Amino acid sequence: MSSQKIATKFIHAGAEPDPSTGAIMTPIFQTSTYVQSSPGQHKGYEYARSQNPTRAALETALAVIENGKYGLAFSSGVAATDAVIKLLSPGDEVIAANDMYGGTYRLFTKVFEKFGIKFIYVDTTDVNNITAVLSEKSKLIWIETPTNPLMNITDILAVSKISKKAGTILCVDNTFASPYLQNPLDLGADIVMHSSTKYLGGHSDVIQGALIMNDESLKDQLYFIQKSCGAVPGPFDCFLVLRGIKTLHVRMKQHCENGIVIANYLRSNPKVDRVFWCGFLDHPNHDIAKKQMRGFGGMLSFTLKDSSVEAATKVLSSTKLFSLAESLGGVESLINHPASMTHASIPREERLKNGLTDGLIRLSIGIEDAEDLVEDLKQAIG
Ligand SMILES: *Cc1c(COP(=O)(O)O)cnc(C)c1O
Repeated sequence: MSSQKIATKFIHAGAEPDPSTGAIMTPIFQTSTYVQSSPGQHKGYEYARSQNPTRAALETALAVIENGKYGLAFSSGVAATDAVIKLLSPGDEVIAANDMYGGTYRLFTKVFEKFGIKFIYVDTTDVNNITAVLSEKSKLIWIETPTNPLMNITDILAVSKISKKAGTILCVDNTFASPYLQNPLDLGADIVMHSSTKYLGGHSDVIQGALIMNDESLKDQLYFIQKSCGAVPGPFDCFLVLRGIKTLHVRMKQHCENGIVIANYLRSNPKVDRVFWCGFLDHPNHDIAKKQMRGFGGMLSFTLKDSSVEAATKVLSSTKLFSLAESLGGVESLINHPASMTHASIPREERLKNGLTDGLIRLSIGIEDAEDLVEDLKQAIG
């Protein structure tokens, strides 16, 4: 099956006609439990926190689209991240990217630090920074590429080599790229994490997360955590993500095309200072992006020459097609102010140290007509 091309894979992943009716779409098995004919006599389904057929179809699909063996679905992206950290024990160390989703940073620092897990944040765009802090206590390396919101790129293959040598687990948050653009398992990662809320769902109507892996023992441990801690998605939400995956390639193609148009327009606008987009030839890690991704996606950030919060606020509240909202990856375009919205949980000094300035504006470029999107930004930026 792995020889199938992307579009075929995304449409058919996990899809088998329902054995009882032939329904082409996996039914929404809205049930909490399953009847047994005598104790222990069942069809592999006992209780829906542990197993649900709609979720099972989605988990198969997740594995297929990331070229992995096993997929696990969670009730949110952060629940998936939470499950990965629960592989660890007090005293263990995690090396994590210093530029990542604010909710991941909050989970690490505010929830897990007090359980004795130590997080060391480094700039992973230079892999030597990872080697420099490795110790025998290091158990996990956590990277995000491209990063949210600065679009920094980390070399997954290079980090996976370091991780394998050190015997650590490498987990890659692949939310921004989606499996259409990048497959971290193929580059040596041990676990791929997704906020399925974003591109996989694709229609801003579901909160969900995913983990995909190849190693059976890792899958067994994570499945144990999934059912023991219970952050499982409901069957209707699983149905929505299954449906989203079927059009992922078509949507991503358009997100990428629109991304190119908007990135170039912003760069040509004299009021714009910097545009953070990994498709530019002069992006610091453009060559790595080109090597490990099949396109540059629909996310970018920019700053204005007038770096005041007031100037950014004016743009943020003047767009008409771009809606001011958290989240990303849906068909409709969104505009966001990371400093006060998605990344408000990161202390200001930390933010500024990593280049996430008060005036930074993030765009999730949807799949509307690119010309209309440019017109909207033109009238908002002036
Ligand atoms: C949104 C997001 C998350 C968290 O996922 P939820 O589904 O909101 O819990 C994690 N990582 C990245 C890169 C995200 O954009």
